[in-house]
Amino acid sequence: MTVHEGKEFGVGDLVLLDNITDEAIAQNLKLRFEKGKIYTFVGEVVLSVNPYKQLNIYGQDVVAQYKNREIHERPPHIFALADAAYKTMRRLNTDTCIVISGESGSGKTEASKIIMRYIAAVTNIQQRAEIERVKNILIQSTCILEAFGNAKTNRNDNSSRFGKYMDINFDFKGDPVGGNIENYLLEKSRVVTQHSGERNFHVFYQLLAGAGEKLLSNLQLKRDFKCYAYIKDGSSASQDKADYNNVAAALSALGVTGPHVDTIWRVVAAILHLGNIAFKKDGDTVKVVNEDVLKTVTKLLQIDQKDFGQALLSRTLAARGEVMDKLLTHDEVFYARDAFAKAIYERLFTWLVKQINESIRPLSQSTTYGKNTVIGVLDIYGFEIFESNTFEQFCINYCNEKLQQLFIELVLKQEQEEYQREGITWTPVEYFNNRTICDLVEAQHNGIIALMDEACLNVGNTTDQTFLEAMDKKFAKHAHYASRQTAPQDKTLVHHRDFRIVHYAGDVVYNVVGFLEKNRDPIFQDFKRVLYNSKDQLVAEMWPEGAAHKTQVTKRPLTTATAFKNSMLALAQKLQQKEPHYVRCIKPNELKSSTLFDERLVHHQIRYLNITQNVRVRRAGFAYRSPYKRFLQRYKLICAQTWPNFSGSDRDGCKAIIEAHRMGQDAAFGKTKLFLRSPQSVHYLEEARNAK
Ligand code: ATP
Ligand code: MG
Repeated sequence: MTVHEGKEFGVGDLVLLDNITDEAIAQNLKLRFEKGKIYTFVGEVVLSVNPYKQLNIYGQDVVAQYKNREIHERPPHIFALADAAYKTMRRLNTDTCIVISGESGSGKTEASKIIMRYIAAVTNIQQRAEIERVKNILIQSTCILEAFGNAKTNRNDNSSRFGKYMDINFDFKGDPVGGNIENYLLEKSRVVTQHSGERNFHVFYQLLAGAGEKLLSNLQLKRDFKCYAYIKDGSSASQDKADYNNVAAALSALGVTGPHVDTIWRVVAAILHLGNIAFKKDGDTVKVVNEDVLKTVTKLLQIDQKDFGQALLSRTLAARGEVMDKLLTHDEVFYARDAFAKAIYERLFTWLVKQINESIRPLSQSTTYGKNTVIGVLDIYGFEIFESNTFEQFCINYCNEKLQQLFIELVLKQEQEEYQREGITWTPVEYFNNRTICDLVEAQHNGIIALMDEACLNVGNTTDQTFLEAMDKKFAKHAHYASRQTAPQDKTLVHHRDFRIVHYAGDVVYNVVGFLEKNRDPIFQDFKRVLYNSKDQLVAEMWPEGAAHKTQVTKRPLTTATAFKNSMLALAQKLQQKEPHYVRCIKPNELKSSTLFDERLVHHQIRYLNITQNVRVRRAGFAYRSPYKRFLQRYKLICAQTWPNFSGSDRDGCKAIIEAHRMGQDAAFGKTKLFLRSPQSVHYLEEARNAK
């Protein structure tokens, strides 16, 4: 089926395995991994095993081998998939998308960059300047987003701490004319705390390592990261300095002007200083210990020192038109400081994404030559199971459930349903559908998120603990939820603050502490007002809601989880409208080793990624399908009966073509579509067409 690479490399398409079992699949991947063959097909799905070393397989020579070929004409490679997505878009004039999934550290972000570079390499043959500019920004923007949105975690030295969906728009010539990035839930808690062994977002270390002396002194920063509480537990990395220069160059390529660059670094620096502001109790009140640090923060953000000091230590309460100041407690003050730091970081991140989007916004959706078409690339945080899992992991893992659901819907379920609908003979394959886990989290009134929102609305006695109890009660009988009460013998559930979800990818115990707070995510109106009144125009612009008057009761924003859920639903809808292509990334070991293939670990991923079922469905099925009309349109010219004119039905026309080329064995005729079993048939047809 695929190009023969030699027996020693196993099979290049898992459909060709003699036995379709998890073990056989793992063995085959292992064999290939050890020989540097990290890509394997399952039909048109590409599996990618992280090699943890640079492989010489992405050069121009390799691009040339894949350009404009059919997907199975060359050995398995992610280029084949990128080319297929591109070609499908052009041939059918439809939007396509590439969904990249896999756990943290499995290689999703690298895969998305390889795809981008491939697309850049095969487009704009005529070297149009505007296209070059767009391509350059699409590639450079990655460096900015990674600096601000990625961090070293215990799983991955460059872990994406936000989700990213990027649309690339193409004109009728097939050249990229613009794009749009959507970002999802940045893990902003990282700005103020990190797990042991992890780092804050790269940009903090990059600034300290790379900024010139003058900039550092303007920002009143010392080079040593140990001086700053928010990052001192991290570590420096050898590439921080070079990365700083890359970020600076990328900002300039983006057209971010001098004053704006200046503001960006001042916000980053202000956060570092903020973390050093200390407080002490003084009788009934709380005082700032180091006024000088506070002053530095206000200078950098160009906000009023007195107002900021007040906003930090107290909170304005407005009730029935009256305004009161309530002093914060010692704990609350630290909390307020951290909330402030997280909020300004998140706004900065959002602003950067907006800047990128503005600089590559496609001029118009349609031209006189036809519609712009789109390839969407989704690279989102992978499934996470840590020692201690919290609200962020809950959201991230829910997102992975959604994507898995989409994969099941599109690849497994639709494939089976289509055969049934079309009346094609077919033996159904059993697979686990994770719909019920998605429902557990997202159901309108009865899901965990709904319950959490309800708890957040109930000010007063609701705590994380009561929220947990409400869940325990509601989901007592749910097969994918376990409370501590139902499994007292389970050692992982001894604490009274945990609940467990049986995810498709494994069991995760979540610590409920902080859920409600993170879901509510309050940033006090006083802070917003101070920022809105900043003399720095850009800072002020980032906080438009600070314009509200003190007595004005502002609208409650959506909770974090609900906003996230809505964005996931919108994303799923967007992906569903496009012709999907899948990259499934696999992590070979936990040690970032380029030689170790941990079979147990891979086995687990094969199981939860549903790869075995995927292979079975695929093998039982057909590699290619097309509505009769479309097939006839495309291939009528390679059959004397259908070219130049054919007066029969579309179905009969297709039959004539198939018979003329003696492909009857390989074809099945459904109610509305023609099915072809092997991809070779498609290659053959394409070649015949090209020869005309
Ligand atoms: P996360 O969900 O944490 O963001 P991820 O799936 O995006 O994880 P990557 O950041 O893409 O993971 O990959 C982790 C590391 O693995 C990379 O920094 C790189 O060192 C290595 N790696 C991944 N893919 C490749 C590849 N194709 N070639 C060489 N190295 C790779
Ligand atoms: Mg990533």
